[in-house]
Amino acid sequence: MSRSILKKVRDYREVVEAIDRATRKIPSLQVVEPGVVETEGERYPFYHLTLKGAKTGNPKTRPVYIGGGIHGDEPGSVWAVLEFLKRYSSLPDPYQRFEFTVLPCVNPFGYEHNTRENAARVDLNRQFKNPSPPAEVRYVKQAAANRPFSLAMEFHEDIDTPGFYLYELTQSGEPSWGCEMIARIGARYPVNRNQEIEGMPAEDGLIHRGNADDDFRIMLEQRPDWPQAFYHYANGSRRCYTTETPIHLTREERAEIHLTALDTALQKLWDI
Ligand SMILES: [Zn+2]
Repeated sequence: MSRSILKKVRDYREVVEAIDRATRKIPSLQVVEPGVVETEGERYPFYHLTLKGAKTGNPKTRPVYIGGGIHGDEPGSVWAVLEFLKRYSSLPDPYQRFEFTVLPCVNPFGYEHNTRENAARVDLNRQFKNPSPPAEVRYVKQAAANRPFSLAMEFHEDIDTPGFYLYELTQSGEPSWGCEMIARIGARYPVNRNQEIEGMPAEDGLIHRGNADDDFRIMLEQRPDWPQAFYHYANGSRRCYTTETPIHLTREERAEIHLTALDTALQKLWDI
């Protein structure tokens, strides 16, 4: 596909303005701009946000990573992050006890042009083992700084799934929270209950892998095209979730599904 036939279907300004509004409403929000994403015709500022709740600083404070928009044709993943920022000030008390690292839109060009890849036709979510990755991936790594997060949540969408599903990666000994996410989401929204999803065995919308799984360990070592979740996992993040919404639902529903998965995980995290 040549660049010339790609049309803008969304405006990245929506992301910029939402971040702007959030900075006025949330005193603890810090906006880091590690650089720009340059294409032939556009320069997109890249945003990495840090959010320290008013009640952080006690021994239970835990770092949480939230990422959206690495695939540009999955806009619900960005809308979910923007909705999270919009709601943040009125979210219940436990939210004030976490330290969030938030990347609202990892692939700004893709977001505007509705392409999975960036302007150079690179799938950013396969670049996390590349020693010289594209700028977008460098900025993600700069934000994550090889830190082990207690929870790494990455929002995605799937164009042909009949319902919600998720990938769960846990370090050895960590309990699975995926079933609870799906129970809450499945009470209101469709879940993909196929026994195989994207070529992987699935159970009631859950694709679970982890340290106890030998095939996964070998694949992690051998596969050169790491997605972002593998990077967080390899850095020791305790739980990595990739949530996938069906795009036939409304914008509001897709955002709500991702935020329900996040809310379930944060409640569990706070109870440990
Ligand atoms: Zn995706």
